[in-house]
Amino acid sequence: MKALQDKILKEGIVKDGGVLKVDGFVNHRIDVAFMNEVGKEFKRLFDGVEINKIVTIEASGIGIACIVAQYFNAPVVFAKKNKSINISGDVYSVDVASFTHKTVNTIIMSKEYIGPGDKVLIIDDFLAKGNALKGLITLVRDAGAEVMGCGILVEKSFQEGRALIDSMGIRVESLARIKSMDNNELVFID
Ligand code: 5GP
Repeated sequence: MKALQDKILKEGIVKDGGVLKVDGFVNHRIDVAFMNEVGKEFKRLFDGVEINKIVTIEASGIGIACIVAQYFNAPVVFAKKNKSINISGDVYSVDVASFTHKTVNTIIMSKEYIGPGDKVLIIDDFLAKGNALKGLITLVRDAGAEVMGCGILVEKSFQEGRALIDSMGIRVESLARIKSMDNNELVFID
């Protein structure tokens, strides 16, 4: 998505450790009008694919997912980062290593909100090592639901996440794919 590449070039900030900051329109302030274009683009890419639920992970995925969901007429279910030690039998859970925070979170999803027969599009802001997506895919599959695809805003293609999700046989559509960002110079694929 050329408009996204342009926006990243204009507003993105490359940080140490292979982190791209896009707080100005994704992770702190959300450019809703722009996100509507993102929603339309995911709808175009997944047109004809049966999808009845959008799944994401808190916190940053929620805003994007809610906008995207409107184009699919589907509800959003977000995985919560569990804070209590006791995990009840009413939830699916999996451990996910956080790329940005360098911690491990147990993420949970209520059995009430996902189950067999659901056809899920997973949405997230970034794909880096693939841990967040892999965790979400695990939750969805544990629920007996089907992952129809993953929609990612920014894929850092120089990290291993894309290959990991490809190897699981799941379709990934990333609206911007970063080939490299060495010395603060952003290079996109395509
Ligand atoms: P992964 O699990 O694929 O290693 O990392 C994906 C998650 O980490 C995303 O949910 C996102 O919140 C966060 N993340 C990974 N890389 C970046 C980055 O370069 N910038 C920002 N803002 N978040 C990132």
